[in-house]
Amino acid sequence: MAPPHSMLGACSSKDPKAQRAIWNNTAPNFIHRVHVIQEWLDVCERQHPNCQSAEIGLSTRSLDLDTQELDVVQLVGMQDIEKTSGLIRYAALSHCWGSGSLLCKTTKLNSAVHRKGIQTKSLPRTFQDAIRITITLGIRYLWIDALCIIQDDADDWSIEAAKMAQVYQGSYITLAATSAQDGNGGLFVDALRSPTLVVSTDDDPQLQGNTVEASSLTTTCLVRCSIGSLRDIWDSSLSRRAWVLQELVLSPRLVHFTSQQMYYQCHEGIESEDRTLKVAGFSSIKSGSVAAEADTNGL
Ligand SMILES: [Zn+2]
Repeated sequence: MAPPHSMLGACSSKDPKAQRAIWNNTAPNFIHRVHVIQEWLDVCERQHPNCQSAEIGLSTRSLDLDTQELDVVQLVGMQDIEKTSGLIRYAALSHCWGSGSLLCKTTKLNSAVHRKGIQTKSLPRTFQDAIRITITLGIRYLWIDALCIIQDDADDWSIEAAKMAQVYQGSYITLAATSAQDGNGGLFVDALRSPTLVVSTDDDPQLQGNTVEASSLTTTCLVRCSIGSLRDIWDSSLSRRAWVLQELVLSPRLVHFTSQQMYYQCHEGIESEDRTLKVAGFSSIKSGSVAAEADTNGL
């Protein structure tokens, strides 16, 4: 896993950045963080014409997250659904398998069972997190390679592997398990390792004696011990994976889940959850240029 980027960041509690829960002194919870993703998606849909590419449902199978049973998802054929419902909005997961074998993967032996239903608690942490986030975003279908491709069927694997680029291109959003080394790493949505410190200036007598600027000084200074950095993405486990480029480049909208914070990437650029990193343009993202970090006011 990449070492945390060590730069300090600070802002006043009145700064618009501080509206994000990540600047709170207590760790932001799951709902706060999914709300940030929804906020990014809303802006992308309303203000980014270049991001409005057609959603093309090209995956053969997907996970249906809206089943009759609680905590059960179902492997379904998308072509049958698309015949009756038109193109389907879905999310896709980009992740590292790790060195171990994924016991939950779909095979010829268990594919019929997976069509009947998969208990989410039987899945690795990263898959469970992706399912929770997708459901909370109001998206019914999720594509995960390990479950949606029959892994020991050479014919199915070669057909579906050839379509993989289109699957990411056609997704509404890709959830990238950027820091997780394997399926058990998770998406870090429930806890962050770099909490924000709070330095209060309210009780400082010297500051309170200053009648001229008193109103602006009676505020709180928020300090984060790690701020947005493209290194969180490019030094990550996922970015070192051989196939990752197609997923990162072709996905129209992508959220990087790192151990430090989330990053939203679309055709217009990239933004960190703490709003300290905002880089305009897609070329800098593709090249992984950390020099672009100097432009923190971008977009
Ligand atoms: Zn966008």
